[in-house]
Amino acid sequence: MEWDHWCNGISLKDIMQSFKFEDSFVNCYTNGYGWTLPPSTPNLLVAEIMGLNIFEHPMVLWLGSPTPTFSTFYTSYFSVVQEVSWQKFIWHKKKSLRFSSYAWMAMLGKLKTADQLILRGIDAYSPCSFCGDGSESHSHLFFTCDFTFSVISSLLPPLRSFLLRPNMMQTFVYFDESLDYNSWEKTFCYYTICSSIYFLWRERNSRRFEMIWRSPSKITSVIRLAILAKVKYWKHFDDLKRRFVLHC
Ligand SMILES: [Zn+2]
Repeated sequence: MEWDHWCNGISLKDIMQSFKFEDSFVNCYTNGYGWTLPPSTPNLLVAEIMGLNIFEHPMVLWLGSPTPTFSTFYTSYFSVVQEVSWQKFIWHKKKSLRFSSYAWMAMLGKLKTADQLILRGIDAYSPCSFCGDGSESHSHLFFTCDFTFSVISSLLPPLRSFLLRPNMMQTFVYFDESLDYNSWEKTFCYYTICSSIYFLWRERNSRRFEMIWRSPSKITSVIRLAILAKVKYWKHFDDLKRRFVLHC
């Protein structure tokens, strides 16, 4: 009641330091007809408060909206963030948060790959943990590396049509621009790529830090199982089964 700046932009404490209201909230002193201030309220405060018409429309607007909703605040909070064309590959309606989070970091080059660590002066083992030939970087891991490309192309065989190995963006864009797929099939492909990034990154870590190695076919099976666990609840599951290999 006394501390918020609701009374013509100032607080009641600013107007009169000494007086204290018994209840803490402004709505304790209103009813359906107007103000219900206690008789002990000093005249100075009565004059200030009674001058406010509480039946007017809201005085504070949020971006011009008198009835803001959660999405009003949410949109405003992220309004300074630039929208990227490829967000639809990651944050589509069927996304899985853990897959999309890692795919998002991979697209932004935020995973702690050896080249990124070395760039920051951290001593890191540079060779790729999968093939041993290439130097570990985002573009090598996803998917110019022989090993990781064999996994993603087993899951999405049309990628074998590339003359050179595609990177992540090219992999997504290939399906995005393809005329062979409808929208839910494209979503399935985006989902598959995101889940592959997640499981390949986990495999990379288990090889580096736990000395546990799995074959491309084993990883492919693990990814298929994870995809199946989610996709079987999708509306077009039966259509997807006809179009893609979903069993292990
Ligand atoms: Zn490699």
